[in-house]
Amino acid sequence: MNLHEYQAKKLLSDFNVPIQRGRVVDNLDDLIKNSESLSKETGTSWYVVKAQIHAGGRGKGGGVKLAKNIDELKKFSSDILGMMLKTPQTPPEGKLVKKILITEDVYYPGDEEPDEFYFSILLNRNTSKFMVMYSKQGGMDIEQVAEDTPHLIYYEEVDPLLGLMPNQLRKIAFNLGLSGIAFKNMVSFSKNLFNAFVKTDASLVEINPVLKTSDSKILAVDAKMVLDDNSLFRHKDFENLRDISEENPIEVEAKEAGLNYVDLDGNIGCMVNGAGLAMATMDLIKQSGGEPANFLDVGGTADAKRVEAAFKLILKDPKVKAVLVNIFGGIVRCDRVANGIVDAYKNMGDQIKVPIIVRLQGTNAVEAKEIIDNSGLKIFSAVEFSEVPLRIKEVLS
Ligand code: GDP
Ligand code: MN
Repeated sequence: MNLHEYQAKKLLSDFNVPIQRGRVVDNLDDLIKNSESLSKETGTSWYVVKAQIHAGGRGKGGGVKLAKNIDELKKFSSDILGMMLKTPQTPPEGKLVKKILITEDVYYPGDEEPDEFYFSILLNRNTSKFMVMYSKQGGMDIEQVAEDTPHLIYYEEVDPLLGLMPNQLRKIAFNLGLSGIAFKNMVSFSKNLFNAFVKTDASLVEINPVLKTSDSKILAVDAKMVLDDNSLFRHKDFENLRDISEENPIEVEAKEAGLNYVDLDGNIGCMVNGAGLAMATMDLIKQSGGEPANFLDVGGTADAKRVEAAFKLILKDPKVKAVLVNIFGGIVRCDRVANGIVDAYKNMGDQIKVPIIVRLQGTNAVEAKEIIDNSGLKIFSAVEFSEVPLRIKEVLS
């Protein structure tokens, strides 16, 4: 689950990570009241207006603006709120900005070149360890730094049983070129950030930039955080952080229907029961010259209703050029699934523009094939796995 910057900052500050403070608003009527209370808390008279969308690179796209007075604050807020913000990480049409974060300005005037660091914590699945990545070259495109000057990025591998060790904390502050109070502040920043990462079951925390002010404060100016969906049952209070409007609508619908669906980039929609068969089917699609458009496991207990729901879901994806249904009828009978598919097809009528390949094997497979073949619908049926590649090649040509 992705979080917005304002949500991530709130969580981090609960773990004593120093942040650039702010107020989130979703309409202009609340703007002045909130900016006044922010000024009272922080003493700021300059504000930063920051678009809240699930994508980075907002600054470059005009979604982060420094306002040096109330008129500018009003102007930038009304410009950004409701805009379609385009950044290198959004879809081409951009993303609608429904909330803005008004923050204190934490860059001191006269501070020519403030230190902006990059800092992230993630899971390294190859080593089964956490990984802390950090660099003095923060604020800008870290991808570019990684490509042009990879030696400027440092890594600390963290054993999950030991946590981020005191020597590693000191090494991080040292490598970032800090000394004195800033060094101490960086040690506690890293320590608290790592603690927040572990306690919230996050799979990613990325702070870019971490700012060192000229009076040696260390602050999270930006915050990207991804929480592990599989651990959300341990954090019931996080459920209200989910912003469904930012998520893939087909994935949201699948979740509500209790289907395991992951959107992919390919052109062949697939519906399979069982994760193992789903993987084998995706391999088969690739070998046949196609690319899976999704991973969809309707589950071992797939009944006609679930099949129908899944079928409709796949057809909503505009990338899909053909659909492959590959169901093994172990518990569910193939003839029932076949009827489910035929019913779904008839219900959707002329909405179906793409060829459908159905391979049903297991209990009553032969009857199932008859049902499909006799339906008069444009569905290619197959019983043997080996027939499928041929069918895929046919529909792709
Ligand atoms: P991103 O573009 O989506 O990564 O958004 P950020 O939150 O990182 O903000 C973009 C840039 O705005 C930062 O790299 C900073 O240089 C700048 N910025 C953020 N906060 C402040 C601030 O308080 N004062 C000033 N002057 N600049 C800021
Ligand atoms: Mn950033």
